[in-house]
Amino acid sequence: MKYLDTVLDMISRRDPAQPEFRQAVEEVFRSLEPVLEERPEYEEASILERLAEPERTIIFRVPWLDDAGRCRVNRGYRVQATSTLGPYKGGLRFHPTVNLSILKFLAFEQIFKNALTTLPLGAGKGGSDFDPKGKSDAEVMRFCQSFMTELSKHIGPNTDVPAGDIGVGAREIGFLYGQYKRLANEATGVLTGKSPGWGGSLVRPEATGYGTVYFAREMMAKAGESLEGAVCTISGSGNVAQFTARKLQELGARPVSMSDSSGTIHDPDGIDEEKLAWIMELKNRKRGRIREYADHFGVEYHDGANPWSIPCTAAFPCATQNELDGSDAQTLVESGCRLVAEGANMPCTPEAVEVLQRSGVMYAPGKAANAGGVAVSGLEMSQNAMRLNWTFAEVDSRLEEIMKKIHADAYSASEQYGDPGNYVLGANAAGFTRVADAMLDQGVV
Ligand code: NDP
Repeated sequence: MKYLDTVLDMISRRDPAQPEFRQAVEEVFRSLEPVLEERPEYEEASILERLAEPERTIIFRVPWLDDAGRCRVNRGYRVQATSTLGPYKGGLRFHPTVNLSILKFLAFEQIFKNALTTLPLGAGKGGSDFDPKGKSDAEVMRFCQSFMTELSKHIGPNTDVPAGDIGVGAREIGFLYGQYKRLANEATGVLTGKSPGWGGSLVRPEATGYGTVYFAREMMAKAGESLEGAVCTISGSGNVAQFTARKLQELGARPVSMSDSSGTIHDPDGIDEEKLAWIMELKNRKRGRIREYADHFGVEYHDGANPWSIPCTAAFPCATQNELDGSDAQTLVESGCRLVAEGANMPCTPEAVEVLQRSGVMYAPGKAANAGGVAVSGLEMSQNAMRLNWTFAEVDSRLEEIMKKIHADAYSASEQYGDPGNYVLGANAAGFTRVADAMLDQGVV
């Protein structure tokens, strides 16, 4: 389609050095062809060009003192993609690989994900190339305070409400929130993922993993299959991986792997409640490596490998972008895998998605499957605004309803645009039309 080619050419020329961003834009825009053909008004209003250009990008210096008293300097970012549906909303990532391309891709994906939740949320993403690994708590605190000193000028409860992502967990959110509150002199819930003791929502830590499994369960049910008794592989061992494992256990499935950037453990008997508690202690408090699980429980450790060679019924990539490639997908297909649900953002490469779809493996793109995290962040904002707290059961049941609705909307959009069960098309089309229609209403801004 000419319009699509023109827009993608323009983005390649403008951002040649942003491969992850161009990959994400291309994946979404190409899938929207049937929508653009049916709705010519989107082309007339240059909706694609506008969505591919963030409303605002802030890049700043983050100087901080290490424990030896030496000044270190990192780079901080906030990409404010769109405020069409509400305040900019999306996480902060602290990882040495962070750069503008990665944050623009994540902010772009967030547009459609947040729209799918049907909550009043715009989209953004931010972070820094700071690596919390190996830093003391005091160093992490000084970094967070310096980062927030600049970021606080650009966010607010009705403007931009960041959350966590890779490398930004409960500890970092606490330090960031403390500094924001001090600078702004107001106790508004400007970050989500706060501790429930001071404004956080119950179920926020669980939300992304639980939501991913709720979504996978809906897909299985639609196909007349079930997660009960299913052998499941999980990558990562952080927030999303941990709660994906817990919900799978609760539903009677058997999670058999977890990983980190050094390697993968394989526990064929299943990672049960007790073993998962051990992993949480290892990862969240001791900040150790997943290899220690293999030593402790006497199971296999695959050094430097990912989990995709382990035979499974369902695979849950929950670590990072582009961690499952075409040949991994082929291995999964050959071992009889029925479903791949993305807990992480864009973990499957375009080649992997193609292999899975061509081979009839059900595939849940992250923007639909992992939207539970931002959905409960939205519920945290509502509770903060009302100054009250809902119970665990209440938030969990809202999360479950939201995930069921995202699944139903994505499935019905896939039917409407002629490829039932293609959740890439369905999720992109359902999210996109919601934002695009609002943009038409709001004029050229
Ligand atoms: P965490 O920091 O809690 O955990 C990340 C996990 O991924 C760790 O086990 C980490 O291992 C591993 N990992 C990171 N980078 C790599 C790499 N290059 N290769 C292999 N493994 C890697 O992050 P989250 O669990 O919060 O986030 C995981 C994914 O889920 C990300 O893609 C994030 O964007 C996405 N997501 C998160 C949401 C949330 O609510 N937290 C919401 C929606 C999506 P190591 O310790 O060795 O670095």
